[in-house]
Amino acid sequence: MSNIGFIGLGNMGGPMVKNLVEAGHSVAVYDINNEAVIRAASYGGIAKADAIGTTESADVVITMLPAGEHVKSVYLENDNLIEHVNSDCLLVDCSTIDVLTAREVIARAKESDLEMIDAPVSGGVGGAEAATLTFMCGGTDSAFDKAEPVLKVMGKNIFHAGTAGSGQAAKVCNNLMLGIEMIAVSEGFVLADKLGLDKQKLWDIASTATSQCWAMTNYCPVPGPVPSSPANRDYQAGFTIAMMLKDLKLSQEAAKNNGAFTPLAALATDLYESFASTNQNDGLDFSSIIKLIENQ
Ligand code: NAD
Repeated sequence: MSNIGFIGLGNMGGPMVKNLVEAGHSVAVYDINNEAVIRAASYGGIAKADAIGTTESADVVITMLPAGEHVKSVYLENDNLIEHVNSDCLLVDCSTIDVLTAREVIARAKESDLEMIDAPVSGGVGGAEAATLTFMCGGTDSAFDKAEPVLKVMGKNIFHAGTAGSGQAAKVCNNLMLGIEMIAVSEGFVLADKLGLDKQKLWDIASTATSQCWAMTNYCPVPGPVPSSPANRDYQAGFTIAMMLKDLKLSQEAAKNNGAFTPLAALATDLYESFASTNQNDGLDFSSIIKLIENQ
């Protein structure tokens, strides 16, 4: 069993820590929000007063933070973790951040002779709780091989996507496609309604026809056809509009920096942004984007 340092104990990090503790690992935890630390300690995490405290005798340090600026702050700036961890400690950043920052932090770790991977996840809070997350990893074979047994405690599918930053690249491309798909499915169902076509009939047909996709079969934005979808609980998240907007903005930054033409993702970003800015919609599940389509 490993000694693990875990920083960032929010909606995702909290349940990930719980699964690590239940698997028998010793997990030292820290978050700038003390309530999150207390919660993690209640299910077996060892509370630390600061980020550096989690690195004492750590074989692995895992971070699950909001964005690139927080990851930089923890590893390179304020906490400067890469100067404090043991020389054989593996670093694993599971946050969803921009590819450039991921590559920069991993390169700086390498300069200090430390192994590090980017390992963003898909699967949401439900996946974090059930330990069924998908991990998309970027880094060397050696770093991936060391990380895999620990990631398997928290996830079901663990992919080595390529070199440093490739996990973030996979994540941003996945969510670019998902964000567009949810709008496409919403448009289809809104048009069907206006044409007098029953939504269940459309779902029965389309979910076995060529427009079939996850946004329709698992997360249908209209109530009814998929009982477990957020549409059946007033669009309670799930995966929020704010998170989808964050990921689409990352996709647009990546597209701009790398000369990729992504016109539909650009429009999707505008639509989620416009919807997020009204009536505190940003906390709703991202499938609620159908309300913007319906109300035009
Ligand atoms: P969250 O806001 O619930 O948790 C982030 C935690 O990081 C907070 O508790 C915050 O206090 C803490 N934090 C911020 N700066 C810190 C610092 N400098 N030191 C220590 N702690 C700090 O977010 P979340 O939903 O847990 O998401 C975490 C990451 O996972 C994000 O990058 C998000 O995009 C990604 N993600 C989230 C989901 C989801 O469904 N929630 C799904 C996939 C990926």
